Order: sequence, then C-alpha cells, then structure tokens
Amino acid sequence: MSKSKQCESVRVVVRCRPFGTREAGCDNILEVDDKLGQITIRNPRAPPDEPRKVFTFDSVHGWDSTQSDIYDDAVRPLVESVVLGFNGTIFAYGQTGTGKTHTMQGVVRDPEGRGVIPTSFQHIFTHISRTQNQKYLVRSSYLEIYQEEIRDLLFKDNNRKLELKEHPDFGIYVKDLSSVVTKNATEIEHVMNLGNQSRSVGFTNMNEHSSRSHAIFLITVECSEVGPDGEDHIRVGKLNMVDLAGSERQSKTGAKGKRLKEATKINLSLSALGNVITALVDGKSTHIPYRDSKLTRLLQDSLGGNAKTVMIATVGPSHKNFEESLATLRYASRAKNI
Ligand code: ADP
Ligand code: MG
Repeated sequence: MSKSKQCESVRVVVRCRPFGTREAGCDNILEVDDKLGQITIRNPRAPPDEPRKVFTFDSVHGWDSTQSDIYDDAVRPLVESVVLGFNGTIFAYGQTGTGKTHTMQGVVRDPEGRGVIPTSFQHIFTHISRTQNQKYLVRSSYLEIYQEEIRDLLFKDNNRKLELKEHPDFGIYVKDLSSVVTKNATEIEHVMNLGNQSRSVGFTNMNEHSSRSHAIFLITVECSEVGPDGEDHIRVGKLNMVDLAGSERQSKTGAKGKRLKEATKINLSLSALGNVITALVDGKSTHIPYRDSKLTRLLQDSLGGNAKTVMIATVGPSHKNFEESLATLRYASRAKNI
C-alpha cells in the first residue's frame, strides 16, 4: 500500500482558536500556514534564535476559521461516505478551553455558529431528501464515558452503568443503550439537546465534568434499496462524533485521591486512542490495541479497516499554554508520522 493510501483513512486537522477575553496581554506563540498545512510553535522561554518547532498536518485552520470551513474540509467527505454505508469517526482532541465543544456543538441557534454535530444532521437529511429509490432509517444514540464507565445520555435513569458486549455478527455494542429513530433534522436536534441537558444534570460544575468525560453522539444510517435482482439490499453506515475529555496532564494540577484516580483513567483512554491511531497509520502493525480502553473498544468497527477517521486537534494561541499546545501538536502529529 502506498504511503498516501495508508494515510487516507486517518486525517488530522488542527484548529487554532482566537485569544479569549481573559487572555489580554498574552503573547501569541502559534503561526498557522494554511497553504502548507503547517503550524509553527514558539517556546516563550527559549532564546529568540532557537529554532522553532514546525508541525505538518493534512490541514490547519487559524483563529478566523469558520464553522463551515471546518465542516467542509474535515467532516463533509466523511459524512458522505457514512451515507454510502461506511463507518466514520470524528474526534475533537485538545486541552480544556481550546474549542472542542465549540467545534463539535457550537452555537446551535446561530446558523453560522453551528458546529460539526448539528451541521451533520442537516447534511444527512438533505442527502436523504434528494434520493428517490432508497429508503432510509436514521437512528441516534448519545452516551458518555466517564471514568471508564458508560452512561446513556438519552435515558432518564442515566446513572445506570452500561456494559460493552460483543455479538458474533454485529460486533461490539453497548447493551441497553437507547436508540432513537428520527425522521428529520429537527427531531435529531431534539435528541442532541436532550442528551446535552442530561449531561449536566447532577454535576455541580458542568465544565469540570465535561472536561473529564468523553461524549459520543452516534448516528446510524440504514439504507435499503431494491436491487436489479428484485431483492432488498441494506447497507448501514455509522457516524461517531466524539467530544473527548480535556487532554491536559492532570498530574500537574496536584490531583489527589479520587481525582488522581479519575485523571489516570482519562489519560488511559486518550493514550489508548493515540496508540490505536498510531498503529493504524503505521499500517505495519498486526496488532491494533483496541481492547486497552472502553473508548477504543466501543469505536473498534469505526476506526481502521474501511472506516474513515478525522482527528480535529484544537489549540489556543497563548504563551501560557505552551506546554499543553505542544503536547497536543505532538499527539496529533503522531497520527501522521510513519
Ligand atoms: P473545550 O470544549 O475544548 O473545553 P470550548 O469549546 O468550551 O472548549 O471553548 C472555550 C471558549 O472558547 C468558549 O467560550 C468558546 O466559545 C471559545 N472558542 C473556542 N473556539 C473558538 C473559535 N474557533 N472561535 C471563537 N471562539 C472560540
Ligand atoms: Mg468542552
């Protein structure tokens, strides 16, 4: 397989957010070259003549990128393959506060502010409305992985922990996970809103909770069509959209006891994901370590093989976040290095 062929199934895109209101007086340490797909990062404590680190990705987006720039570049082709019956996964990876939720959800009420998830709803149902000879069934689920435990965000009793099971024909699935059939973009948006509400219930600090859990919105698109043989042919594509836990190294925050245990688990699933993606990109690995975390096990049939994966790594421009931004760029570029 050629190098470019191997890379095709994993795309890595970086998005740099603008300075926030609380970052007045901070120095910009990032230079984004969208033509070359490069990001240059400057160590604010290094002497000015020290060579800067340059990272190259499939594409990079600077502070003025719009939601539709990201969608068109990174997500649209993947969703197009999902409606054709392939599986795909989109991850937002990065330090807390760098724009993962902004990228995945955005401001849903504002047409220009809508992130990847609500835009995909529109995209999928527009595609369906334009087809003639196919029948579609669109189902969605919304779940969260917190401390290696799975919770259904669409079920009232959402504190119940769900189990991962393996079916000989259908592969890995979450036992008892709700799955809602939706007929249009408005209905599926309602499902998303419901899950978002349930995500924050019972947590005194929503931000803190969301920075420590992975949220996965799953859409299953089933299409049936009568073939030339007069038989019904069914194809199923799955789209996983994942707002990952914050990638910041928790050990530095002085976490102890329960917090430290939690931190170890967060880092475990993010490093397991990194290892899976590296093994996939490498192409030579015979063993892909899916089993190392709930996240990678759950996504097993949507990572690698015929599935497409997009990693959107988010970084902030401030010198104060140098270490974390560098760590994010390293993690993301690991998915590109062969
Ligand atoms: P995360 O989910 O990674 O913790 P958020 O998505 O909550 O981060 O973003 C933190 C803040 O930065 C929010 O106020 C968000 O609106 C803002 N923000 C993030 N990315 C962008 C962007 N590309 N353009 C404008 N504002 C952004
Ligand atoms: Mg967030």
